[in-house]
Amino acid sequence: MAKTIDVIAPFLNEAQSASAFVGLLEKLEAAVAERFGMTMHKILVDDGSRDDSVERFSATLSGSWEIVRLSRNFGKEAAVLAGLDHSRGDMALIMDSDLQHSMEISLKMIAELVADPEIDVVYAQNDRREASWRRSQLARLFYKLINSSQRFDIPQNAGDFRVMRGAVVKALTQVRDKRRFNKGLFAWAGFRQKAVLYTPDNRASGTSKWSRLNLLAFSLEGFTSFSVIPLRIISLCGVLAALAGAVYGAKVFFEVIFYGIAVPGYPSLLVVVVLLGGLNLTLLGLIGEYVWVTLSESKDRPVYIVRDIIAAKDGEPGQGATRP
Ligand code: UDP
Ligand code: MG
Repeated sequence: MAKTIDVIAPFLNEAQSASAFVGLLEKLEAAVAERFGMTMHKILVDDGSRDDSVERFSATLSGSWEIVRLSRNFGKEAAVLAGLDHSRGDMALIMDSDLQHSMEISLKMIAELVADPEIDVVYAQNDRREASWRRSQLARLFYKLINSSQRFDIPQNAGDFRVMRGAVVKALTQVRDKRRFNKGLFAWAGFRQKAVLYTPDNRASGTSKWSRLNLLAFSLEGFTSFSVIPLRIISLCGVLAALAGAVYGAKVFFEVIFYGIAVPGYPSLLVVVVLLGGLNLTLLGLIGEYVWVTLSESKDRPVYIVRDIIAAKDGEPGQGATRP
């Protein structure tokens, strides 16, 4: 029987939503205690905020909590790992601190996990329709490609918002990938997982830290950490180009031998040079991406560095004490 649950929430410059998020946590804590008889510990991870988020959180949080302050901004993926590393509970709930992840869905996920001992993870799956048709098709293509020839499936539109048992947390903390693609890691770890559909709330304040370029880089990261498909596709293109070249060569050869047709040289030459040059550069760039991942992994730097931890002073509300 699960008795304790840790809430893990990374934040970066969320001072504006701090007090509202603490309010949500308080309500969640009360509901969890009442419905499931579980006590809650809050693990907030400061991912290098430059505003007064930390002061706001430490002044308002109550009950059992700690704020793990990272030495700089390491990215949400690393911050989530820092939270998992500090989790000791029977269950852990990961959620955003920008109020996009609601209390109702959190409770629903916890209820599913409590009710069925056969399930290890319950994750929230975003049922939001992509704004544009093109974007949704791109997303579908991404998942189709990345999931091909894989022994596990990365579910579409499922992120960090999830509840899991302590054993799963332990398994995830053993995965020390430097370039972390959490969606993939969660799926890779296995266990019995269940989806709960949800529509994310709008951001209460501030803006999303994701730009289009970020998204593109993130997708590429997904591939380089989980798939060789791009390399295979480019190799296939190379083979096809070579075949086409051979056919064209044969055609030219027969035309010259049997019909004496002079070969128009310049245009065909240019097409071949540009085509093959482009293909070569693409492949080189792609290999570079994979080499870069290999390099980051082999340097073996820690995924994040903790500056210090602020924890609740023996159950007193607010403030808290710092320890290194
Ligand atoms: N976040 C973080 N580090 C980062 C970027 C974001 O800890 O480098 C936090 C952010 O404060 C928020 C959550 O991760 O609580 C999700 O970020 P965001 O809202 O920007 O992403 P989106 O909801 O658009 O996916
Ligand atoms: Mg958000």
